Amino acid sequence: MSIDPADYDIADLTARIKDVEDVAELRAILEAEEDGKNRDPVKKVIESRIGKFSGDEEASDGEVDPTEMSLAELGNAVQDIDDPERLDAILAAEEAGENRDGAKRLVQSRIDSIRGSEEDEGGDVEEEPQTPEERHPDLDHPTADKRHVRALTDATYGDMWVYCETQAGDLLDVSREMLGKARELMDGYNADYDRSERVVAVLIGSDVERFADECIDCGADAVVVHEDDRLDRFVHRAYTEVFCDMARWGGEPGEKGPDPAEWRDYDEPRYVLFPATNNGRDLSAQVQAELDSGLASDCSGLYIEDTVISNPAKVGRAGEKKEFRGVLHMKRPDFSGFEYSTILCLDNPGREFHPQGASVIPGSFDVPDPDPEREGLVVTHDLELDEDWLSVRVTEFDQLDEGVDLTGRDVVVAVGRGIGDDPTRGMELALELANAFEDADVGVSRGIVTGSYEFGGHVEEYTREERQIGETGQVVAPKLYIAAGISGAVQHKVGMDESDTILAINTDPDARIRDFSDYFVEGDLFEVLPMLTEAVKSGTLDVQAVADGSGGERQ
Ligand code: FAD
Repeated sequence: MSIDPADYDIADLTARIKDVEDVAELRAILEAEEDGKNRDPVKKVIESRIGKFSGDEEASDGEVDPTEMSLAELGNAVQDIDDPERLDAILAAEEAGENRDGAKRLVQSRIDSIRGSEEDEGGDVEEEPQTPEERHPDLDHPTADKRHVRALTDATYGDMWVYCETQAGDLLDVSREMLGKARELMDGYNADYDRSERVVAVLIGSDVERFADECIDCGADAVVVHEDDRLDRFVHRAYTEVFCDMARWGGEPGEKGPDPAEWRDYDEPRYVLFPATNNGRDLSAQVQAELDSGLASDCSGLYIEDTVISNPAKVGRAGEKKEFRGVLHMKRPDFSGFEYSTILCLDNPGREFHPQGASVIPGSFDVPDPDPEREGLVVTHDLELDEDWLSVRVTEFDQLDEGVDLTGRDVVVAVGRGIGDDPTRGMELALELANAFEDADVGVSRGIVTGSYEFGGHVEEYTREERQIGETGQVVAPKLYIAAGISGAVQHKVGMDESDTILAINTDPDARIRDFSDYFVEGDLFEVLPMLTEAVKSGTLDVQAVADGSGGERQ
């Protein structure tokens, strides 16, 4: 044995055994490690190398029989074969057997890549490590058996796809909102870039085709539908597989282009939008990972523009600039809505990141006025569902008791972090005002729910999540909504901006809530709330007077 593993730490040993291909020698090193320091990561490194070369030995005995393999298995197997003659034999076996186009393309592309490297390097083939597992064998890779999926290169992209979620037999409003926004974006895109790309709505589920016309009325040019009774509820794996197959239209990642289809002529969508709902978030993350692209989650603003970037990772060289055309700019609130970031999903020089994808916070865009005159194409998607994808089944469900229901109230008095100076007193003031009305209750912003305020026991129950208003809370539309000490983050706005009248109380004259309030009182809630309570009790509440100060009581 030429190497004693005990003399090396893991990084040095990894480098030292890089050139050892003799399986017997590697086994001897492994035994020495087991008898000596017996370090798990070290043993994994040696074992992986043994696996690599003993795999070659076995394969050279003719083990790779393509006729016994799926495309994915064959793709993985040929990645480990460096001998073009063996690959030629595998190709011949496939031609003599099932003669699948995809399989032949896989093997041929491996042959081309090896022969190309031989030519480039004068026959001296030394493959660069490609996958994270190969590059860092010293690290523990729990997903080492997962095939590293490569994105497409030099592919064609087109259209903006919108995943239109349905729930309990209804098309969600956010689906309509996204379609309206997608229409606006693609109209602009087509005009600016002289293109004629479309908005494509995606419907997956059971009995969902009936929403196709509505999707077209809301802005879609085409609707791709996958119907299956087994998909009546969201099932993560199955929905992901269906969506990805639609996006690639039968193509394999990085290997095979889409199946021919009359209705589309590109490899993958250019842009995709998902709703930032529970299921939409789940689906969007997995789909974009499977398509080897990125995702900007929870967006509330979108626009398409060219952009000039100087980041060397994107440009290929330090100090240079590159213009990217038609980039989807995805704006999302950060730090709980205090700041907004704009996320871009840009190709690298040797790797493409498409579709550019975002999930969209419900309520960020207006529901478009449906246009029944619009016409569009409805395309049926066909894919045999693998039973494994459906191994998680909802066999029973129960509607949870929703606790406090604020939705039917005439008046909602909502408080936010503006009560911070004296949280218990702030809640008491809100309760006193609510009690002065005939039909009112108290709500809170998420700032209260997630804050670390200490409340007196008598008000604490009014500060819980069940009273939260907004995107992740209740959506209310009372006759009067009083927002005291609430800044007006978009996630709060979507839960209350349909109210008939909105009265905001805030010390900051530039608070965002001012933009969508009917009346804005610039003042301290600890002073304004008691005045309102008095006015309601005495029957003299004049919201306009309070707001503009003519009531004489404004701060
Ligand atoms: P702040 O933003 O801190 O605002 C406090 C306001 O009080 C300020 O405008 C300040 O000027 C004013 N003020 C201070 N002192 C006084 C005073 N004495 N008198 C009057 N005014 C005063 N938020 C929700 O509300 N509902 C949701 O459903 C929700 N879902 C979310 C989902 C996600 C995925 C994310 C990322 C965030 C979500 N948020 C939600 C959080 C949201 O982004 C904001 O952080 C939150 O709404 C801020 O709460 P706030 O307005 O009470 O606090």
